[in-house]
Amino acid sequence: TARIIDGKAVAEALRAGLAARIARLNFRPGLRVVRVGDDPASGVYVRNKDRAAAAAGFDSATIQLPAETRESDLLMLIADLNIDPAVDGILVQLPLPPQIRPDMVIAAIDPEKDVDGFHPVNAGRLATQQPGLVPCTPKGVMHLLRAAGTALAGARAVVLGRSQIVGRPMLQLLLAADCTVTVVHSRTRDLPAECRRAEILVAAVGRAELVRGDWIAAGATIIDVGINRDAAGKLVGDVAFAEALPHAGAITPVPGGVGPMTIACLLENTLEAALARRGVAEA
Ligand code: NAD
Repeated sequence: TARIIDGKAVAEALRAGLAARIARLNFRPGLRVVRVGDDPASGVYVRNKDRAAAAAGFDSATIQLPAETRESDLLMLIADLNIDPAVDGILVQLPLPPQIRPDMVIAAIDPEKDVDGFHPVNAGRLATQQPGLVPCTPKGVMHLLRAAGTALAGARAVVLGRSQIVGRPMLQLLLAADCTVTVVHSRTRDLPAECRRAEILVAAVGRAELVRGDWIAAGATIIDVGINRDAAGKLVGDVAFAEALPHAGAITPVPGGVGPMTIACLLENTLEAALARRGVAEA
């Protein structure tokens, strides 16, 4: 039966490491989270972010704007944050209300402060193997794979999903770690057959328990990014967890797997952005 990869514990260790590094600095890395309206799904996430950031020693604040905020006003706020020397990281919480174009907002953020890693400049850096800010969720997946001791070089990795925020950057990171990567998606012909070839399977589709037990090769490492509600309203991943257990070698639970890593990696990105932007070398 599969080993459970404890994302909560890995995230706690990562945050403790960040706190120790910040304690040695003579400034507090600044993070500003901008929230427009009050999408209930992101509410818990924003509160958890604030708490984790403060506990690790960041100067963190959430800027709450009304749901009817105009795009031009949001862009002006971002311009102010871009030139504010105390601000190292800017994150605009998605989804945004319909009058605001997310692409315009993301492109307006200074790439050096783009701690979500969604700016086209950072996506381009990742694709061209240059240092930059990397999207938090796929970055968290890499931490989990390393914590689980999964062999990466030469391993056959399959990424389920090709979104800009998870699937695509996941492909780049696994490739950079010398995996042989296949990306499968909604138009893939035989999803189960592709998944069965995976020694590492990263599921990021947003379909409750899409991946069944017999899609999983014996001993595979399964990272489940999905956050879904099943028919009974219970929080489940993209992988049928109970079915996967007898097949997989290691697996992340939902909740308690990838989720906690995302916030920890946001904080890691903020510290990295602060050091790079301020030209600080750690002792
Ligand atoms: P998305 O909807 O942008 O992308 C989903 C991808 O899955 C698409 O590329 C699509 O081609 C593919 N897909 C959809 N249905 C499919 C099917 N039936 N078969 C094969 N492929 C299919 O989603 P996303 O933003 O990448 O998020 C994916 C999931 O991960 C969601 O459940 C989301 O809630 C979760 N998520 C979790 C975290 C976290 O912190 N744990 C962060 C981001 C996203």
